[in-house]
Amino acid sequence: MNKTNTTTTSRRAFLKTGMLLTATFPLLRAPALFGDTPAAPAPPATALPGCCGSRLRLESLTNPVGIGHTAPRFSWEIPSTERGIKQTAYRILVASTQEKLSANVGDVWDSGNIPSDETVSIAYAGQKLKNSTTYFWKVRTRTNDGKSVWSLPASWTMALVNGAPWKAKWIGLDKSFPGDVLRGRTRLPARYLRKEFSAAKKPAKATLYISGLGLYKLYINGKKIGNFELSPTPTDYNKTVKYNTFDITDELSEGTNAVGVALGNGRYFSVRSKGYGFPCLVFQLEIEYADGDKQIIASDNTWKLTVNGPIRANNEFDGEEYDARMEIPGWNTVGFDDSQWLQTEFIKPPVGKLEAQLNKNIKIMETLKPVSIKENKPGVFILDMGQNMVGWVSMDVKGKAGDKVKLKFAESIKDDGSLYMANLRGALVTDYYTLKGGGKETFEPTFTYHGFRFVEITGYPGTPTINDFTGKVIYDEIETTGSFETSNATLNQIYKNAIWGIKGNYRGMPTDCPQRDERQGWLGDRAVGSHGESFMFDINNLYAKWLDDIEEAQRGAGSVPDVAPKYWNIHSDNMTWPATYVIIADMLYKQFGNKEPIVKHYPSMKKWITYMRKKYKKDGIMPRDKYGDWCMPPEAPDLIHSKDPARKTDGNVLGTTFYYRMLTLLERFAALQGKTDDARAFAQEAAQVKKAYNKKFFNPETAQYSNGTVTANVLSLSYGLVPAEEEKRVFDNIIQKTEGEFKKHISVGLVGAQWLMRGLSDYGRADLAYTIATNRDYPSWGYMIENGATTIWELWNGNTANPAMNSHNHVMLLGDLIVWFYEYLAGIKNAPESVGFKKIEMKPHPVAGLDHVTASYRSVRGKIKSAWKKQDGKFVWDISLPANTSATIYIPAKGKESVTESGSDVALAKGVTFIKEDGAVVVFEIQSGTYHFSAK
Ligand code: BGC
Repeated sequence: MNKTNTTTTSRRAFLKTGMLLTATFPLLRAPALFGDTPAAPAPPATALPGCCGSRLRLESLTNPVGIGHTAPRFSWEIPSTERGIKQTAYRILVASTQEKLSANVGDVWDSGNIPSDETVSIAYAGQKLKNSTTYFWKVRTRTNDGKSVWSLPASWTMALVNGAPWKAKWIGLDKSFPGDVLRGRTRLPARYLRKEFSAAKKPAKATLYISGLGLYKLYINGKKIGNFELSPTPTDYNKTVKYNTFDITDELSEGTNAVGVALGNGRYFSVRSKGYGFPCLVFQLEIEYADGDKQIIASDNTWKLTVNGPIRANNEFDGEEYDARMEIPGWNTVGFDDSQWLQTEFIKPPVGKLEAQLNKNIKIMETLKPVSIKENKPGVFILDMGQNMVGWVSMDVKGKAGDKVKLKFAESIKDDGSLYMANLRGALVTDYYTLKGGGKETFEPTFTYHGFRFVEITGYPGTPTINDFTGKVIYDEIETTGSFETSNATLNQIYKNAIWGIKGNYRGMPTDCPQRDERQGWLGDRAVGSHGESFMFDINNLYAKWLDDIEEAQRGAGSVPDVAPKYWNIHSDNMTWPATYVIIADMLYKQFGNKEPIVKHYPSMKKWITYMRKKYKKDGIMPRDKYGDWCMPPEAPDLIHSKDPARKTDGNVLGTTFYYRMLTLLERFAALQGKTDDARAFAQEAAQVKKAYNKKFFNPETAQYSNGTVTANVLSLSYGLVPAEEEKRVFDNIIQKTEGEFKKHISVGLVGAQWLMRGLSDYGRADLAYTIATNRDYPSWGYMIENGATTIWELWNGNTANPAMNSHNHVMLLGDLIVWFYEYLAGIKNAPESVGFKKIEMKPHPVAGLDHVTASYRSVRGKIKSAWKKQDGKFVWDISLPANTSATIYIPAKGKESVTESGSDVALAKGVTFIKEDGAVVVFEIQSGTYHFSAK
């Protein structure tokens, strides 16, 4: 099957495996241009994708279909595992055909030989790229070992760019039908659309552009197209509507073909968003024939529509109702009699502009088998998935026509074994399935999802068993890039819970939660958290898309919202939530080498900070805060927010520290783009703010900021606001408060947590950070686990707090914990001035109590591994660095003489340079390759 813009074009079979590839690309094996050494042999067909190749990516994607960028960016890896390998030059070829590429002819673009060590985000600079056209590319890299190697080939297909006018029109029916319940807008059945068309010959190429709002499911000749769910990605449809692109050449045949599209409500027809309009479709299929003829099939008012299909009601928050008796056999195939169906109409189109979707759609990424099922009351069964997950269950069932099974979802159960629904607030989270009868039937919903661990099943004919159910785990189809494991079971479980929570909240935007009547892109929740996530998943395109959502939600005067996409219109002009806009642009640049968001959003960011300054800044202070240190641990078990003034962090401190942080980041963004005047202005402003802030909030006697919460002090320290000579005293305050009043427990909420673990470690108390991270009593991540959490809670006291705001799947309280896991425990950190892990800083903190850490991270330059253990009084450390990178490593050791590498004196090791002895660590510089260090 052919895939979307974000997946491999399987039609081009040559790209599938190395075996096929060498047959189709005979020249790849031949000596190439100008005395090049022969190309690397193609990987065996069984090789894992990317394991041994150059992992060619365009806009971070492998062989994408549907690229909307007119100057897309190329990235690759150098496949060598030798020590000390560096790229010295590259040459990119882009060809219009596979044959030309095989013959090393870059008829579309030949970059020429570029002396450079860069392998990430190199922008295309060839001929103007054409709509709907497939291009083929490869790269030749020269390395310092004298090798010059052509990569395997890759391809991409352009979307509709260059301002191409769409021939297709938006169609649907702008009206309701009997049976629709519009009040609350939750009860609209799916709308089914169909069209037959004739292809004069067998198409040589067929490219399809489609968007269906809120959500679509597409069939060509009865076959589902795309392996994903709940598409397209959500946006503010008043600004942008994303379309997906498919190569459906293989699906079409000469003669009559049929298209069927089911439309769900999603965020388009929903009270919980703005309620944009009735579901609608735009569809444009461009067919090319071998003889050069072209044909376009575009949505128009000749398409037919019915609302009388099996999906009787659908809503993301409330669930789906499916009546199998109303299934319409053959509705999406040729020859179906649609004479009773309605005629579609040209409807009022969505306001937003159509844009190619770059971020991945949602997919069923895993399946889970339930762990138990219990009959809690006669006929009421409770299914336990064993894991708080996001998606739905598929159900096998046998019964008679009209039997109706109800599936209701919840995160937890009450003492009496029934579902705990209170924390889901207004979300009905219930699927219904009405049987058609006559044998085994399988149901799974199409246009809804749930965040749940438990399912209440009623109305099931017979006795359900766990074998009748499968959990379908959904999230954006992104690669898992990190792994992390230690000798401490609590840390491992926290990591696992974090993974489940984070992936479950990827829904084309990072949501706050996946279960209750909210599920919004709250900015504050993902500030530093997204940095931690960047180790776990390839979130580059997802977060770049979210920054676009944020920019679209910005008001004309400059105000940045608290929520984006703007399904909720919240502009409180605080500092801590909107700051995420700037923080994430910085993260994408540093972690992924993606500078585009900084360049693209700089004007809006500058506009925002200028707006805040002009409107609110007073006497050097930014007195703007709304949420405080959100969800810091309250003093009483039932409270959501603390009422104790001594625990609350002064909003002016939060506003001003974040304002200062923004200025320092924007100064850097300006400098990066050569905007020296801007950079200077931001630096001056920052210096003034620092002065005013210290004057107002620093108490020289007590050496604390404002009322001295850990958050106030740790932010001041981490953002560089504390005068150098006072840093130690301020830090001592943090320690005293944490060790004394809070008995070595966390005392911060969403804001303070962004810097706590790193702040403690940077000033020498990684041991205290470790205690906080491994606690099992209140408040701690371990306390959540003690109380049955399999994800991360919204509240530290999530087992006792008021249900009004008590999600069991929020990730904001992770703060910088995952960053700390990777950077401070494993020691995998992008060096301060490095971009995309070109230079790595490896400084693990082998705190007492922790015996080993094994971690890996697939960076944009390749996989980095760090595995250390304490063994027989030695520190044993295995490191792998991808080619074209280097690292400064900090080995805990008495002196350099006590360090060996692969069993020999480190002084003899290839690729290792001694830098210095620094207290209890010895510092070396290492080049790419694999190393085995041991130190006493
Ligand atoms: C959301 C949070 C969000 C907060 C801000 C909550 O309802 O779930 O994650 O950041 O509101 O007020």
